[in-house]
Amino acid sequence: MAEQRRDAPGSDGTDGGHRAGGAGEAGPGGAMGTAWAAEAYGEAAAAWEALVATARRTVADGLVVGTSGNVSARVGDLVLVTPSGVPYDRLTPADITGVDLTGRQVVGTLVPTSELPMHLAVYRTTDARAVVHTHAVHATAVSTLVTELPPVHYMAGALGGVVRVAPYATYGTEELARNMLRALDGRSGCLLRNHGTITHGATLDQAYDRTAQLEWMCRLWLTASSVPGLTPSLLTEAHMAEAGARLKGYGQRR
Ligand code: 13P
Ligand code: ZN
Repeated sequence: MAEQRRDAPGSDGTDGGHRAGGAGEAGPGGAMGTAWAAEAYGEAAAAWEALVATARRTVADGLVVGTSGNVSARVGDLVLVTPSGVPYDRLTPADITGVDLTGRQVVGTLVPTSELPMHLAVYRTTDARAVVHTHAVHATAVSTLVTELPPVHYMAGALGGVVRVAPYATYGTEELARNMLRALDGRSGCLLRNHGTITHGATLDQAYDRTAQLEWMCRLWLTASSVPGLTPSLLTEAHMAEAGARLKGYGQRR
């Protein structure tokens, strides 16, 4: 229960669960501090709900088995993260877990994901607002075979170009985070050798979609390259750059 949690929102100056429903009293005319706190709490609570929905989606869509993988979302200087080793279908609003950009836990009592170094490295070096890490099977298979995903499809342009594979390092380490950052240079996603995927985006939906597209491209390459006697044709850097630029205007215009 939220009120039994030592560090539930409220202990660090933000408003607690008891005040969450008090947005009315904190509205126009209310004390500025209280209004700000209620707003900040509401934003974090909404982000937590979206984060849990995204984490559940990784399992439902087969990108993750059990408690593998993790998801985070940045709200101001607060980074909400999935707790380590907790099945996503068991997470409730009271389980909200958050750290600051140094990794210090500021919200919740559950132990944050073991991959905090990777998530925080992304937030410290990019303007990403969401990060998704999975052990998607085709992507992980590809990570064991090549140093970059051969450019068989233009959708790699949506991740910034040819997708690299970060050298292996033990899960949860700063070394893995450093390897990942190098592989991510100019990209919004990469593979982690013998481990999985990581992508980031401006929203949870965008980060999730990039993971799904990456897994699909890995499956595509494995499928095409497994036909005996034939080799898949590859796109050039120029093809990829052109598709990447065009994809920025893809979809419905406002
Ligand atoms: P957590 O359960 O600690 O998030 O770890 C899962 C994982 O994918 C580690 O690489
Ligand atoms: Zn992992």
